[in-house]
Amino acid sequence: MATEKPTEHNLDPADWDAMRQLGHRMVDDMFEYLQTLPDRPVWTPTPASVKAAIQMPLPTEPTSPEVIYERFREWVLPYPKGNIHPRFFSWVQGNGTLLGMLADMLASGLNPNVSIGDHSAMYVDQQVISWCKELFGFPAGAGGMLVSGGTIANLVAMIVARNAYQDGVVKQQGLYAHDGQLVVYGSTETHNCLDKAVQTIGIGLDNYRKIAVDSDFRIQLPLLREQIRRDRAAGMQPFCIIGNCGTVNTGAIDPLDELLALARAEKLWFHVDGAFGSLAKLAPAYAQQLQAIEAADSLAFDLHKWLYVNYEVGGVLIRREELQRQAFTQEASYLVQHERGLAAGPPALTSLGPELSRGFKALKVWMSFQEHGLEKYRQLIQQNIGQALYLGDQIMQNPPLELLTPVTLNIVCYRYNPGGLSSEQLNALNKELLMQLQEKGVAAPSYTVLNGQYAIRVNITNHRTRTADLDALVEGSLLLGKTIFPARG
Ligand SMILES: *Cc1c(COP(=O)(O)O)cnc(C)c1O
Repeated sequence: MATEKPTEHNLDPADWDAMRQLGHRMVDDMFEYLQTLPDRPVWTPTPASVKAAIQMPLPTEPTSPEVIYERFREWVLPYPKGNIHPRFFSWVQGNGTLLGMLADMLASGLNPNVSIGDHSAMYVDQQVISWCKELFGFPAGAGGMLVSGGTIANLVAMIVARNAYQDGVVKQQGLYAHDGQLVVYGSTETHNCLDKAVQTIGIGLDNYRKIAVDSDFRIQLPLLREQIRRDRAAGMQPFCIIGNCGTVNTGAIDPLDELLALARAEKLWFHVDGAFGSLAKLAPAYAQQLQAIEAADSLAFDLHKWLYVNYEVGGVLIRREELQRQAFTQEASYLVQHERGLAAGPPALTSLGPELSRGFKALKVWMSFQEHGLEKYRQLIQQNIGQALYLGDQIMQNPPLELLTPVTLNIVCYRYNPGGLSSEQLNALNKELLMQLQEKGVAAPSYTVLNGQYAIRVNITNHRTRTADLDALVEGSLLLGKTIFPARG
């Protein structure tokens, strides 16, 4: 008597043709959406009804993909962050591309775990890192790793720098193996992800020296030198200097040559946070200023910002690969590489970073680099810098708009200042102006505070931005400013 076989399930569609049709519709809808993007407001607040609709109970029963897609079209698609839009200038964010979107679909379709093994994604990942080394002038034998973004890239670099100090005793024995307290140096303008990194690696924020900046928001070298001297005299152990290549507030670039020379003289690790600014290396006008990157011990950079690749992807480069490998190699019987078969292939990526499971983020980079070529990226980065300079000029020519810092890269900070107002009033009114610019869908700059002054802050890492978009921002700021600020007289 035959025993009845239990039903076996999987997650593939019951109706492949219907799913295929839906997939084609999604692609068509997204193309349509992106093609008509500039006609939409840059940002639309998510209505309360939509926020409520999204809060569904945890589903216990299936819903058809068509219905789910309708929910996406109604609840998600109309209220995006806006960073794909030509008039998005907030924080430092990228836009992505069509081919990048499709590459993400292909990567997700193959869905490899890019950590270990002999499979195509490992080779593509390796190739992308090789290209990045070339891009930033690192030696071919350097170490590197694609990660989710600048935050993790900086963290990985800090882990390697800490472990490399004094023959890597910390890996086995912990921080108490050192005679004195380890100390890190950076400027007050350094991105807050390095605060997270420094405390995560056990150094403690008190031992992260934030050196004051000059009027151009660049680290003051004499103060840095003096602090290192004092720390050594107090028996502490300086081990790392962080240089900024493009600060998030104003785009300031620290004097990298001098920082490199100081790090060499003091035998300290020299790390560069070049999340977006390091890409300016592609612009000939910045090649000299950014030369020192090529000699840095480590570099953190983002590809999802100023190379316009779809989220998420950034990377870290480590000059001496063996130090990166030492920091993260951890033997395990289940991860030993074999001579042949699936477990052969390139060196395991899990020995180069903290992650084991990794998605195929390399594919969109690999495809994008081929699609556009380096020259196109060079043009676009120069275009963005030119646009920032243009906007700076427009602001200077249109009082009561007031430029708050000279434009040195791709960031412009300004405010509306009709005169006769206190600092507090100016700050409050400019904050209101910013919110209205966003709410009315004019443009989406962000904000910062510079020397106590609230600044409307425009970052241009946007391949879709046109000069006309900047003109619209200037006009909008003047118009709204007039209505928001109390009339004088
Ligand atoms: C964006 C940024 C970071 C953090 O990178 P993420 O990709 O957002 O994690 C670090 N440093 C600077 C200067 C940045 O602009």
